[in-house]
Amino acid sequence: MIVAMQEIATEEQIDAVIAIMVESGLSVHRTTGASQTILAGVGLTAAMDLGTFEELPGVMHVHRISAPYKLAGRAFRPEGTVVTFPNGATIGGNKVAIIAGPCAIENRDQIFTIAKCVAEAGGGFLRGGAYKPRSSPYAFQGLGIPGLQMMKEAAEKHNLMTVSEVMEIAQIEGMLPYVDCFQVGARNFQNFNLLRELGQVRKPVLLKRGIAATIEELMLSSEYILSGGNYDLILCERGIRTYETATRNTMDISAIPVVHKLSHLPIVGDPSHGTGRRELVAPMAKAAVAAGADAILVEIHPNADKAASDAAQTLYFDQFEKLVGELRVIAGAVGRTL
Ligand code: PEP
Ligand code: MN
Repeated sequence: MIVAMQEIATEEQIDAVIAIMVESGLSVHRTTGASQTILAGVGLTAAMDLGTFEELPGVMHVHRISAPYKLAGRAFRPEGTVVTFPNGATIGGNKVAIIAGPCAIENRDQIFTIAKCVAEAGGGFLRGGAYKPRSSPYAFQGLGIPGLQMMKEAAEKHNLMTVSEVMEIAQIEGMLPYVDCFQVGARNFQNFNLLRELGQVRKPVLLKRGIAATIEELMLSSEYILSGGNYDLILCERGIRTYETATRNTMDISAIPVVHKLSHLPIVGDPSHGTGRRELVAPMAKAAVAAGADAILVEIHPNADKAASDAAQTLYFDQFEKLVGELRVIAGAVGRTL
């Protein structure tokens, strides 16, 4: 860490800051410039709240040099993480994966029709919510375990892996037989108890960025799962809330290359929740693949306008099929396969 002192800082104030840094276990290297003193602290700063140093008399500002996360950082696995599923499908590495399905599993016919469409388009993962985090308690809440059973059966028929959202610790065990990847939604992104528990599970986790989360917070939430020993973690950019009202969320495409630079973890682009509008899903999916996304997650439904949840952002089958064809071209153009 670097502590830059104010020009007017007194020698007593500088000594007091040095003393506190030493007390915190840091070795301190002092540079006394013509007008300003800089204190470099070397040691374990990950668990330290640097904000407290900023409050000390005579301090101008404090910078963190090393990242406050370790296991999620690129340096932990410079070659990058490839998450491999039981059927051999992967997320991360050279191949761009397709995760598609309804926002919510609604009935047997719906999920079987969708599974067939995903497989025929060349997708590898079937998504579908059985526990839905709805803004209103009166909106459709999902089918629970019977829904997951249907989805698993439909996926097995087409050799697809399943992805579904877990909202609380108590749901994990019941979901285990039916999900190949646990999704943590934007609303549970900082449910630290849930994240810790998923660190104990030996199944991949897809962690969505919170609606108001910084990328550093995404890294820190990852750390909760990784530090439990579950390294099969996939991140997801699904849009953040900004002042813009033309879209449901603002899809932060730049988060994709930023995460690749900071972390070894794969990152998925979710243009469905990222935009909230059907007509914007394909353009943003293409942008995400061009920017290096390791997978695309999209909501599809045979009768998209009538979907029980997220209808406005759900693609019809023909739109999805066309999109996958276009993504294949873009993946090729950026040195990937699909
Ligand atoms: C979803 O995937 O259907 C979902 C609820 O996503 P998010 O948590 O990103 O809103
Ligand atoms: Mn949804």
